[in-house]
Amino acid sequence: MSRALVAIVGRPNVGKSTLFNKIAGRKLAIVEDSPGVTRDRNYTRAEWLNHHFTLIDTGGIEPDSEELIPSLIKKQAQIAIEMAHVILFVVDAKAGLTSTDREVAQLLRRSKKPVVLVLNKVDNDKVSEHYYDFYELGFGDPMEISASIGLGIGDLLDEVVANFPEGVETDYEDDVIRVAIAGKPNAGKSSILNSILGEERVIVSPIAGTTRDSIDTYFEHGDDKFILIDTAGIRKKKKVEAGVEKYSVLRTVAAIDRSDVVLIVIDATEGVTEQDTKVAGIAHEEGRACIIVINKWDLVEKETNTMRDYTREVRDQLAFLSYAPVMFVSALTKQRLDKMIEKIKFVSNQHAMRVQTGVLNEVIAEAMMLNQPPSDKGKRLKIYYVSQTNIKPPGFTVFINDKELMHFSYQRYLENKIRENFGFEGTPIRFYCREKQ
Ligand code: GDP
Ligand code: GDP
Repeated sequence: MSRALVAIVGRPNVGKSTLFNKIAGRKLAIVEDSPGVTRDRNYTRAEWLNHHFTLIDTGGIEPDSEELIPSLIKKQAQIAIEMAHVILFVVDAKAGLTSTDREVAQLLRRSKKPVVLVLNKVDNDKVSEHYYDFYELGFGDPMEISASIGLGIGDLLDEVVANFPEGVETDYEDDVIRVAIAGKPNAGKSSILNSILGEERVIVSPIAGTTRDSIDTYFEHGDDKFILIDTAGIRKKKKVEAGVEKYSVLRTVAAIDRSDVVLIVIDATEGVTEQDTKVAGIAHEEGRACIIVINKWDLVEKETNTMRDYTREVRDQLAFLSYAPVMFVSALTKQRLDKMIEKIKFVSNQHAMRVQTGVLNEVIAEAMMLNQPPSDKGKRLKIYYVSQTNIKPPGFTVFINDKELMHFSYQRYLENKIRENFGFEGTPIRFYCREKQ
């Protein structure tokens, strides 16, 4: 399912992060199987009346340097304009209208994207003394909210959802594999994209019904259909100033959001960097299938065990992605690109695979026999029944006697047993524990 992207913009201290947290609140409380990757919480999934969207707080992007505030905010607004379907422009009812608000408004107006003007810090039902000043910004009636108290948020979200462009939430065709090419600048993402599209067996054609500014690419390879998702900056190079790494991470988030399979492209001459780890962590947490692609392999001097040693090092650094295949390619010489396309198809199938309940429970029963479930203070974990309740990524609901007794290490053991028996290569697996007496 495709989701809309909503971005919050505005100058510092107007309450952007308070609003972000208010909307994100419920979601953030869910404890996920975290790989221990630190990640900036400036984006989240959110849901309102059966609409699912991704919310980004552009203010959460810290400046790399002592950048001047107005230029920083403008940059953030540009990111929002580039990526978002709807923009929440937050202003401050207590402080009133400022010149920075006016500058941001000018950028946003020119973008022609839907903008919802949010007048924050209206903590009671009195109309703000500055209310009418904000009409000057040209976005109609300001929507009054109090992010900290939580007033007006429902109405605001109604308005956000009403502004989603048509078609943004359509279901994807099931037989098309959506691929995001992620990685840091210069890793070779655009070269890989162009090399794939230049392959002999690849037939590129335009996608019907895509929006004007979408530059996703549809192609067929044999009987298989793919869409290479545009990560702005791959096809259209550097529209927004480069240099601020966090921006490229945000763009990657948007692409990963719409993908089935993520290629995590690593520059072979540099190895795994912190940003690669971050991107890999996002793909993992978002439950996408992944392939670790070591590009520029042509530049690496090889001896007998170079590939084996390199793999070991990558595995070490991206330990939480132990399920992801590692491939060594060269966009330049096209080495193993054909294989990579086949691998994309393969992990995508694994991502969507369902196993039969009967066989699954046999595997679990055998696993429990080989390695007894843990116990605590005389009480032992009992697993009654396991059933696969999700795909993309595969999710297993485990009916047990007591959640406290399900230790991470035992869950990991069960995961390994499931993988040994069924594969699930390239895809994360989720467990949901349910107590049953
Ligand atoms: P940001 O810089 O735009 O992300 O702003 P913050 O969310 O960090 O908020 C800046 C300040 O405004 C903080 O002290 C918040 O507690 C305060 N604030 C945020 N929302 C409200 C609100 O609805 N009412 C009031 N009175 N204060 C708020
Ligand atoms: P992007 O920023 O990730 O899209 O990276 P580019 O595709 O623009 O590549 C960055 C640089 O690396 C360019 O100079 C490419 O020609 C070069 N490059 C990309 N892939 C390869 C490769 O497989 N081998 C070699 N030797 N150079 C490559």
